[in-house]
Amino acid sequence: MTAALLTDTPCDVAADRAPHRAELPRVVGADLSVPVVDGSRVRYCDLDSAASAPALEAVAAHVAEVLPYHGSVHRGAGWTSRVCTALVEDARADVARFVRARADDVVVFTRNTTDALGLLARAVPGPVVTLDLEHHATLLAWRHTEHRVVRAGRTLAATLDALRTELTERPDAALVAVTGASNVTGELLPIPEIVRIAHAAGARVCVDAAQLAPHRRVDLAGWGADYVALSGHKLYAPYGIGALVGRRDWLDTAEPHLAGGGAVGSVAVDGDRTRTEWLPAPQRHEGGTPNVLGSAALGAACRELDPLIDEDVPAHERALLRRLRAGLATVPGLRVLSVFDDPAGSGDRTATVSFTLGELPAGLVAAALSAEHGIGVRDGRFCAHPLLERLTGGDAVRASLGLRSTASDVDRLVHALDRIARREPGWTYAIVDGRWAPTPDPRPLDGPGSGRPGAARGCGH
Ligand code: PMP
Repeated sequence: MTAALLTDTPCDVAADRAPHRAELPRVVGADLSVPVVDGSRVRYCDLDSAASAPALEAVAAHVAEVLPYHGSVHRGAGWTSRVCTALVEDARADVARFVRARADDVVVFTRNTTDALGLLARAVPGPVVTLDLEHHATLLAWRHTEHRVVRAGRTLAATLDALRTELTERPDAALVAVTGASNVTGELLPIPEIVRIAHAAGARVCVDAAQLAPHRRVDLAGWGADYVALSGHKLYAPYGIGALVGRRDWLDTAEPHLAGGGAVGSVAVDGDRTRTEWLPAPQRHEGGTPNVLGSAALGAACRELDPLIDEDVPAHERALLRRLRAGLATVPGLRVLSVFDDPAGSGDRTATVSFTLGELPAGLVAAALSAEHGIGVRDGRFCAHPLLERLTGGDAVRASLGLRSTASDVDRLVHALDRIARREPGWTYAIVDGRWAPTPDPRPLDGPGSGRPGAARGCGH
């Protein structure tokens, strides 16, 4: 039934042909098969790239190429140290180019976006303003500075007005931190406009690009934004790396984020204290042995995606998103979530869609998608509790598409949701260890890990 409905939708033929698909880089694990509860195996349908994306094949190949040379950075005279130092510094340049940094911006490698924002929080010299729709990484980073939260309105226009009012009435804000794309709805925030509003009030802007960078061009210089934070594992380089890129002055004078070896020019003991001469950024914040493989992976991902991120990646994802939204509109009781009602807010967005399905618990829907259909989605509140409270008063299901996604993945999701919505589950479910799970669960855990999959952590719920 769902398949018949889908062939009636106008967008699917174009999406099936996926005109840009052939040019897109391949990801590792694209042919992964997973067990389902009827005892068979199906190709894994990964619709959770907003949480974490697979590695590009080119990234994994580059890491394999680098591994024999793995060595210390900035510290050794040995050949591998020289190679690795060059790799890390080249990767810095690749990241800077990818986000269109200015010549005097600095790239600091971090663990991820959360870590990058934590670093900026040490550097910011005054109050920080955020919207309440943010991911917890952007909402919670500013525990050691004054932090003001502006409530987003039902429309984007009302939200920008509220931001303008806050910044005008209390003109001492040093920084506005805002997401480039919502991790819940995929809606894009108008960064150049936010930059104009913030700069007019004397505040800088940090863009949380965790969700934007894999899908749209981050244009630090073009936007006039001051900082950008991103995560390698969402950018097809899942090797424990992230970056903060932006203006040097605050970063050069801030307390070191990771104090230790490599962050100092000299250390002496003076009486019963250490006397240190901290290096400028980025070294100042990168104490300890750096993540060489992560930097190399992120640099490689940036090089691969740079020629594709302006047109090919968005075209691929827009076609799939049209197909997905048309399909979801046919599922009884399914409600797609949006932050904003106005046309600006419902315009371009990444292919991340959150929804509720009638009164069905989101966790049950996600468990059935995995157990019966081999489809991976996220359920919960997506580390954006205030936004989910407003949109649903509870949990939702999120499907997020990326380079790995195909039209057939979209159709599988829509077909599976249609069955679940019509109460045609092929299995029984119960809450086990706080999460919905198939009971019994006959699927062998045959991946490389051992033991049962861990219970979900609190953040998604
Ligand atoms: N910001 C947004 C918008 C995100 O979606 C995420 C990850 N879900 C983060 C920040 C945090 O990223 P990470 O977990 O890699 O630090």
